[in-house]
Amino acid sequence: MKKVLAKWWETTENNKILCTLCPRYCKIGEGQPGFCYIRQNINGKLYTIGYGRPTGFAIDPIEKKPLNHFLPGSTILSFGTAGCNLGCKFCQNWSISKAKLDDENSLDVSPEGVVALAKSYGTPSIAYTYNDPTIFGEYVIDISKIAREAGIKSVMVTAGYIDKEARKEIYKYIDAANVDLKGFTERFYHKLTFSHLDDVLDTLVWLKNETDVWFEITTLLIPDENDSSEEVKQECDWILKNLGDSIPLHFTAFHPDFKMRDKERTPDRTLTNARKIAMDLGIKYCYVGNIHNTEGQTTYCPNCNEKLIKRDWHSVLSNKIVNRCCKSCGEKIAGVFKN
Ligand code: SF4
Repeated sequence: MKKVLAKWWETTENNKILCTLCPRYCKIGEGQPGFCYIRQNINGKLYTIGYGRPTGFAIDPIEKKPLNHFLPGSTILSFGTAGCNLGCKFCQNWSISKAKLDDENSLDVSPEGVVALAKSYGTPSIAYTYNDPTIFGEYVIDISKIAREAGIKSVMVTAGYIDKEARKEIYKYIDAANVDLKGFTERFYHKLTFSHLDDVLDTLVWLKNETDVWFEITTLLIPDENDSSEEVKQECDWILKNLGDSIPLHFTAFHPDFKMRDKERTPDRTLTNARKIAMDLGIKYCYVGNIHNTEGQTTYCPNCNEKLIKRDWHSVLSNKIVNRCCKSCGEKIAGVFKN
């Protein structure tokens, strides 16, 4: 199995390795992998065995990430690896995130090979997605550096559960991100994701204050777990206070999966109610996802309410943004647009 020496680790007193890539800070014994499966202690050194080992590639609409204000209507080359550093019981990609890396289910593709693939398909961007790209950060750095030189943008689709030092390196050549804010209580994070809310909030504030990365936020609403109007309101209040009113927010529908098959699918009204709460509080761009709802998926001008980008699910039906502004009133629209 191919292995590349990892960044972000140190040796501890009892001869274990402390991985410092994410706030789980696994202490890893000889021969063992960390929680995420793809970082392994081999002869007293930490290796990233997921480097260069995508589970497969797809060409997705960028709206599927979801990103609605970053090159809308464009395609994006998407891939992930095996493993994940979170343990979400509701994971909608669990066949990848819970897989152990093996030669049968993983390809062997160099960073140059990934960029060449994006070029051959003519996608303006590459997405590190499906599982959490934090855990293959070394591979992300090498691909995104070459991609930037080639004029191709890089997008992280992540839970934002990452160490403060490691993120500075991993996001150096990243252009955009969608960060899952999976709920707004520590109870939810602890019980259903095996991670912690504060670390994710810290990443969001860091992205806003200390990087040029364009980012949007997604919250998957799960019935009776994180979908109360009060919790949605608290999340929106926090976003407005700490990130401002122009970060697009996506509320998406849960479907029963992995270890949460006993729950109902999220009703459409829960999503539209959450969107109404967000917009009434002052969030300028809020969307619903994983359902058909053209109103909840349209980008409206926050000044004159013109329908600027009409969408249905992941399809862009029309786009009236010109020079990054509303065609009707000239209001500047937050995001990264081709025209
Ligand atoms: S990146 Fe993986 S090995 Fe490192 S601390 Fe996080 S879960 Fe553990």
